[in-house]
Amino acid sequence: MEVKEVNAANKKGMYENVMRQFDHAADTMSLSPGIRKILASTNNEIVVHFPVKLDNGEIEVFTGYRVQHNNALGPYKGGLRYHPTVDIDAARALAMWMTWKTALAGLPYGGGKGGIQLNPKIYSNSELERITRRFTFALGENIGPDHDIPAPDVNTNAQIMAWISDTYSSTKSTSIRQKNLHVVTGKPVGSGGLEGRDRATGFGVVSTIKSWAKAHNQDLNGKRFIVQGFGNVGYWASYFLEKEGAKLIAVQDASGTMINKNGINPDELNAHCTETNGSISAFKNATFIDSEEFFGIECDIIIPAALGNQITMDNVDKINTKLIAEGANGPLDTEAEKVLLEKGIDIIPDILCNSGGVIGSYYEWLQNKRSENWKMDDVLNLIQDKVSTAYFKTVDMAKLHSTDMRTAAYVVALTRLELTYKERGVFP
Ligand code: NAD
Repeated sequence: MEVKEVNAANKKGMYENVMRQFDHAADTMSLSPGIRKILASTNNEIVVHFPVKLDNGEIEVFTGYRVQHNNALGPYKGGLRYHPTVDIDAARALAMWMTWKTALAGLPYGGGKGGIQLNPKIYSNSELERITRRFTFALGENIGPDHDIPAPDVNTNAQIMAWISDTYSSTKSTSIRQKNLHVVTGKPVGSGGLEGRDRATGFGVVSTIKSWAKAHNQDLNGKRFIVQGFGNVGYWASYFLEKEGAKLIAVQDASGTMINKNGINPDELNAHCTETNGSISAFKNATFIDSEEFFGIECDIIIPAALGNQITMDNVDKINTKLIAEGANGPLDTEAEKVLLEKGIDIIPDILCNSGGVIGSYYEWLQNKRSENWKMDDVLNLIQDKVSTAYFKTVDMAKLHSTDMRTAAYVVALTRLELTYKERGVFP
């Protein structure tokens, strides 16, 4: 019941949110009108319907999406999500966020996003493999290592990326087959993946929290934090934040909400989740509470790491924290954000906070292009460096325009895009 309600909110507002954020930033920096028109629309929107034979012999037709928002700075880049809320509006919103994110991080990429509208939990592993391979085949040349490069997102993982890479490469002639590994990033290390890509997003989230602590003269040791979503981003963010001495006191996922003010061990919870198909349900060292209570828990840091539009006018008054670090894409709606800023709650915006993932993807892509194997420590240092550069650029921009961190992050990204269009002009 709870999942249905949250998902309805998620579906309604993400596209409106991203457009409101974009308009506000474009006004703040007086973005040139022609470039504003270009960036307000998406370049390409691909919708595919494809059949798959299920384990029981029946055929089902699935709908998949890939929205390519903008490629002025390089190939389209962004995740694939397997979830019932995936539709054209969600893909548009998420693709736009990717354009701003890659521009802010200083990467040679544009923005794209997509996925399949389905509940992956009801399909077997072999059905998911056939669905993934047939979706890849249906996308055909709409993706490619120098054109559009997907990555994992909600309910997709390294295994799914390996199937995509294998399917895409298998459709190429033998002489160039091995040159296509980097059609996706976030692959398993044995299939061309990058050491550290699994933890890159959560590591980046914590890098931004460390930059925030430095800028505000705060010590993370002893800070209490709560996390919504305990998948890839939620787990790794908890893991790295705990290493800074902070304490995880509550977790919410699609199955429920739990609290332990003495601390929840992220590794113990992760080990539990590997036994329960990813769910926190029945974890022994915490008390399960009503899900409505989650955002009202008193803490120092909230990390939303699940779906979009989770903090809205319906629950914003309950929030009792100092910092919200957006691991998820679009977890706050614009109205709720205004209320939080008026209360003096700091927000590290998604396009900055979770950019460690796409930065890690960039290094995986480079590793594959150069036929190299990089080391975890080097990768994490490179991510830390890029994330903190983007953080302090955003802080400087916020001071320059006397504005909030989200608007400032957008302005950094849009300034880079505007310059590119001004230098190159518009063909013909
Ligand atoms: P995931 O599939 O690994 O985990 C998703 C988590 O969200 C699960 O714990 C699930 O139970 C929980 N969840 C789903 N519906 C929920 C609901 N209604 N209420 C509470 N929890 C719910 O996904 P992920 O890769 O960790 O992605 C999480 C978020 O981070 C998404 O917004 C995604 O776009 C964003 N993100 C991911 C990456 C990445 O590298 N994976 C990079 C940048 C941003």
